[in-house]
Amino acid sequence: MNNALLEFKEVWKTYGNEQTKMNALKGINLSLKKNSFNLILGPSGSGKTTLLNIASLLDTPTKGKVILGDKHTSNLSKTERSKIRMNEIGIIYQRANLFPYLNVLENVMLPMISKDKNKALELLKSMGINETSQFPEKLSAEDQQKVALSRAMINDPSLILADEPTGELDTDSTNVIMKLIKDIGQRCTVLIVSNNTDLFEYADNLFSLKEGIIIKK
Ligand code: ADP
Ligand code: MG
Repeated sequence: MNNALLEFKEVWKTYGNEQTKMNALKGINLSLKKNSFNLILGPSGSGKTTLLNIASLLDTPTKGKVILGDKHTSNLSKTERSKIRMNEIGIIYQRANLFPYLNVLENVMLPMISKDKNKALELLKSMGINETSQFPEKLSAEDQQKVALSRAMINDPSLILADEPTGELDTDSTNVIMKLIKDIGQRCTVLIVSNNTDLFEYADNLFSLKEGIIIKK
């Protein structure tokens, strides 16, 4: 019985052409167990966003395999990959990227498959957001990130991916958001990539990424 939700096998990513060629990822092997909480720390340019974009199936490896659940993702069409992303993966970024002309509830319900308004309200409430008819600009950066997290969770994904989720936040807000993500990690697999070494204390599984090479800590 395979207990891994996400696996990278010898994953390489090469950018550029013959002259400008650079290897952003150099043979990454990674296996994330179901419901595990994982953190990859690495400096700017180490390949974090590249790795996360491959994990989210937005991008494909130059070489190697990515297995999500029991699916080998290499042979999937773009449409099939989008479908998996929508159903099984929630993604958050450094900026909340909320739509300014939609209110909080509408932002969270936008990608929602079931369109169950009460479920969306409950989820927001569990994140501490009660003012759901506000527009994003009225919210603090911390609250905006809570809304983004709710939106990422709305279809009950099995995998949550976060690219520098606390990059725009002060220390207090960073701790609030990390605790929320940690809590979510009880229910699904979480992978966070960041250059903020202060986050290490939250990790159950810690990795470091340097120049496209990953090391388990
Ligand atoms: P990080 O998120 O850790 O800052 P990235 O994954 O964004 O790292 O980038 C890793 C390396 O790949 C960097 O040297 C970056 O310049 C390069 N890179 C990233 N995206 C591209 C791209 N689309 N084309 C060419 N080089 C890229
Ligand atoms: Mg990045």
